[in-house]
Amino acid sequence: MSASSLEPVRFVDLAAQQARIRARVDAAIARVLDHGQYVMGPEVAELEAQLSAHSGAAHTVACSSGTDALAMVLMARNLRPGQAIFCPAFTFVATAEVVAWLGAHVWFVDVDAETFNIDPASLETAIAGARQAGHEPVGVIPVDLFGIPADYDAVSKIAAREGLWVLGDAAQSYGARYHNRRVGTLAMATATSFFPAKPLGAYGDGGAIFTDDADLAETLRSILFHGKGTSQYDNVRVGMTGRIDTMQAAILIEKLAIFDDEIEARNRIAARYSAQLGSHVATPAVPDGLQSVWAQYTLKLPQGTDRAAIQASMKEKGVPSAVYYAKPLHRQDAYSHHGIAGGELPVTDMLADCVLSLPMHPYLDEDTQDRVTEALISAL
Ligand SMILES: *Cc1c(COP(=O)(O)O)cnc(C)c1O
Repeated sequence: MSASSLEPVRFVDLAAQQARIRARVDAAIARVLDHGQYVMGPEVAELEAQLSAHSGAAHTVACSSGTDALAMVLMARNLRPGQAIFCPAFTFVATAEVVAWLGAHVWFVDVDAETFNIDPASLETAIAGARQAGHEPVGVIPVDLFGIPADYDAVSKIAAREGLWVLGDAAQSYGARYHNRRVGTLAMATATSFFPAKPLGAYGDGGAIFTDDADLAETLRSILFHGKGTSQYDNVRVGMTGRIDTMQAAILIEKLAIFDDEIEARNRIAARYSAQLGSHVATPAVPDGLQSVWAQYTLKLPQGTDRAAIQASMKEKGVPSAVYYAKPLHRQDAYSHHGIAGGELPVTDMLADCVLSLPMHPYLDEDTQDRVTEALISAL
């Protein structure tokens, strides 16, 4: 059979995962339909308890999405105009979007060329720039891009010295390890996403916030329910509709049960990609002592490579690829008026031109993976 007569490779294969857990998911959904508590049903608290045990965080607050998870922490910290938040420009838009919602200043920080995560030296430059502009630095949002935890030791040290809090954007990294700790315990608060294509994905939108701060968890539970006090008709602060659906919580409980096994598979597949591709491209680097969950397997093409031509050639062989992120946030119209560390972000711009993400999911078999690597190598 010729390659072109094969079915196209899936970038993320949610169907393969569903086949594995379909009976348990059907039963979980049926239980919700039977008890009828579609909002704040018992599965929500059960999921939160399981996520706390899994991550090691003292408190887990499940919520409506990763974006809302980030926003609600900023609301809990009373972020307001005049204040400044620091985050990488090489990320999904939601990281900065929530800061703009509240009218605060975003300061875009450059990233490390190997890990794609926030560069501590650039963070220091950005903090100085913000102070010079008369903005009040209050917090930093490192992003665990593509599933690799950011350099929390370095970021926390700078944050402590400068009086900033740290909110981890772990939308792509839930389940990852940082030395002997898991994502969810590395910052004042950590936000994750259960968007279907994330490593731990629901069948719709969802998210969670992890914290060891009991008061913050309590405030978040109020914010996600219209700022409720003793009841939803007692409103002690401005909040929102930030709850997770019971149905999604029930589905996530079944997905969490196989998640550690899936993380192992993702790491096995990533190692195989790197072994096959290491002599052709710059394969992703995970720092010693860290374990990625491989939300994406993202490599760097050699300088001067025509990336669009590579993608087109791979696509002809039924192999999809993606570029995260071709247009970094400091170059987006909606964010171009915000602060930029040192006035330019050379590593971010370099990465935007040369990164390429390959199909990655726990059910990628070796034959299919060989099709991906052969398509890329022959395109090169
Ligand atoms: C997906 C993502 C988000 C937003 O999560 P949603 O659940 O889609 O709202 C935030 N930050 C990063 C880095 C993401 O990848």
